Amino acid sequence: MSDACDVVIIGAGPAGLSLAGVLARQGWSVTVVDPAAREALAAPRDDGREIALTLLSRQLLEQWGQWSRLGETEFAPLREAQVFDGDSESPMRVAAADGAEALGWMVSNHALRRVAYESAAEAAGIVWKLGRKAQDIATDDDGARVTLDDGEVITARLLVAADSRFSASRRRMGIAARQHDFGRNMLVCRMRLEKPQPGIAWEWLGYGQTLALLPLRDDLASVVITLTPAEMDALQALSPEAFGDAVAARYGQRLGAMQLVGERHVYPLVGVAPERLVATRFACLGDAAIGMHPITAHGYNLGLRGIALLSDAMMLARRRGQDIADAEPLAEYERNLRAIAFPLYLATLSVVHLYGDDRPGMRLLRRALLRIAEYAPPFQHLMRMALSGRDAKPPLPLRLLARAVAALPGRATH
Ligand SMILES: Cc1cc2nc3c(=O)[nH]c(=O)nc-3n(C[C@H](O)[C@H](O)[C@H](O)COP(=O)(O)OP(=O)(O)OC[C@H]3O[C@@H](n4cnc5c(N)ncnc54)[C@H](O)[C@@H]3O)c2cc1C
Repeated sequence: MSDACDVVIIGAGPAGLSLAGVLARQGWSVTVVDPAAREALAAPRDDGREIALTLLSRQLLEQWGQWSRLGETEFAPLREAQVFDGDSESPMRVAAADGAEALGWMVSNHALRRVAYESAAEAAGIVWKLGRKAQDIATDDDGARVTLDDGEVITARLLVAADSRFSASRRRMGIAARQHDFGRNMLVCRMRLEKPQPGIAWEWLGYGQTLALLPLRDDLASVVITLTPAEMDALQALSPEAFGDAVAARYGQRLGAMQLVGERHVYPLVGVAPERLVATRFACLGDAAIGMHPITAHGYNLGLRGIALLSDAMMLARRRGQDIADAEPLAEYERNLRAIAFPLYLATLSVVHLYGDDRPGMRLLRRALLRIAEYAPPFQHLMRMALSGRDAKPPLPLRLLARAVAALPGRATH
């Protein structure tokens, strides 16, 4: 273990990269493994994802020297969220609190990946193992070992798996995970709108489809459409012009003419909730710790919370004179992250279940719940807290309802 680094991170996605930068600045020695080439990390391709960040996430990115690397045109404010049910034209509204500049911020995923890499690349103390995959891992009380696909072995005091929601490292450690395949695909793309609505996001929980609209700068918006894979294939096969018309019709012509800008990207929707987040000298991070359905826009926000919690736990261990991979700081990290992430995971599952069910009785319940939410100040407060990234424990009845709905046998979920 004498030549071991402090932490080896498997996965240079935005979570792994951000953690590497944060830890290196705290003085830890870090090794990062990813099959991507350095050029791909420095200039990531547009993957169509526009990430809604909470106010807390922005603060963390500022603190970690990432936010200032974004160009002025690379972020846009989110001032109000409107939630529509079925064919209703009157939404439930959640606006920024009085005096607040915004509810949250929109930033493209590829821009977030770039600034995470730039910030990490500038930090001293990171060894990059790029163009190679982690083939095998093993941990015991003495240390962690990662074997790369070219046979090189890396040893570390702590191994962090940031290798996606389908984390092979997590599985290799024997950690079980519940997967929820929603049987739907999500299409994301940028579109130019004839009638843009700056700063206003829509979540349209329609009958037979779920639509979202995320405001970008000027007359651009990110269009998010959830459909069955077969329906999605048909939509994708359309020419850009026909696609624009079809999408404008899906949005009920409320946004006027819509024109595709760039590529369409499609993601299968699978939620993943691991049973454990840590093991001997091992911790899961980012999507490997919780794979959220994107409808509630929590994925990377939780990834950032996880980075803050893990780095804090390591610093605390250092101050106490403990090993960074001591069971106690790792358990603390797991406890704190689970307390934030799992209620959100369950609540998201219940929203998807409830609003993916179009049966007549359910339509009434859906509408009633949105109306209650609109006029119930505690619910509005909770929504604002969730959007700003501050923790708020839902009242017991709401938590029980979320658990009950999430446990319902799957009906159509979109
Ligand atoms: C359509 C869509 C919209 C979204 N919108 C939002 C939003 O509005 N707000 C929000 O907060 N989140 C959102 N998210 C979620 C967000 O994009 C993810 O949470 C985030 O990108 C996860 O980052 P990550 O670094 O954990 O994982 P990933 O980005 O999946 O990166 C994993 C990395 O691990 C590497 N890897 C895998 N296997 C190995 C191996 N064996 N060895 C080495 N490296 C390996 C991969 O190459 C990759 O670089 C959205 C997601 C989608 C799909």
